[in-house]
Amino acid sequence: MPPGAAAAPAQPILTFSAHPRSLDDNRYVYAVLARRARGVSIGVNLNPDKVCNWDCIYCQVDRTTPPTVREVDLTRLRAELDQVLAWAASGALFTRPPFAGVPEVFRRVSDISFSGDGEPTTYPRFKEAVETAIAAKQAAGLPDLKITVLTNATMFHRPEVREALALLDRHQGEIWAKLDAGTEAYYRIVDATTIPFATVLRNILEAARVRPIVIQSLFMRIGGVGPDPAEISAYCGRLRDILREGGQIKLVQVYTVARRPAQASVTALSDAEVDAIAAAVREAVPVPVEAFYGTPLVAGVGRLGETAVSRREGQGAPADRPGERSGGEGR
Ligand code: SF4
Repeated sequence: MPPGAAAAPAQPILTFSAHPRSLDDNRYVYAVLARRARGVSIGVNLNPDKVCNWDCIYCQVDRTTPPTVREVDLTRLRAELDQVLAWAASGALFTRPPFAGVPEVFRRVSDISFSGDGEPTTYPRFKEAVETAIAAKQAAGLPDLKITVLTNATMFHRPEVREALALLDRHQGEIWAKLDAGTEAYYRIVDATTIPFATVLRNILEAARVRPIVIQSLFMRIGGVGPDPAEISAYCGRLRDILREGGQIKLVQVYTVARRPAQASVTALSDAEVDAIAAAVREAVPVPVEAFYGTPLVAGVGRLGETAVSRREGQGAPADRPGERSGGEGR
């Protein structure tokens, strides 16, 4: 039997809507079934203390319970990554819970993803964490495995974060930067932070001038009301600003909440509403756009796999997009 296959404790079966932020006794490394990747994403949580510099109304991190781990131990993080990547490289990953229940079509490891209970780039040793992930994938014989950073872009101006992003550029890195609004007012409502919108926009632009980036944008109903057309128009304007000023956008992801958010007033847009926003972006901005849909909070693989994946294929989207994540951002 492959290493680890017999000794693993009972785990819930992974589904798109069940994203346990735990794997065995790991503190930092977990895994989620990523619907848009049709595979498993290896998550790295650099914010086990659940502290974030935003307080998004749609955040899915449970901050009603105190964290059990507050510090990041990079030595332990590396050991956890080594274990999971060794299972991935050998094929043993899908013989053990919770991966054994993953449908055959999704049995691939899509990426290592910095995506946890807060903004990963606020971790003071973020660059070292990036180096750790790169070393781990190389040691596992998976040098081409993508490393994604799911980020709110608020820390890109820090030199050490820029260095880390540059390092990722040389090691199959990809930035997924959040942009949830077109106006300062709406940004304040949905992302609930004192950090100026201009800081986020400037940081996204500067990162996009260096390499093509992915923009991920979550839209929702608040108290039953979705974003108004003027907000979407302003949002498209911000995307055009990035392009006009020399930024490169490889993809815009328009999506909505798929799991229970922090505030009960936040609910998913309908598929038609998501499609309408995606269509507006396609009309206004010359970039690839993908749409991802909300799901019933207790939905299973069938609903998500059949609907979201087939629609994406119909749009001719790349097959290796990591998607639904366990992070606080509805990933
Ligand atoms: S969604 Fe992400 S950026 Fe927003 S509060 Fe949650 S962890 Fe922070």
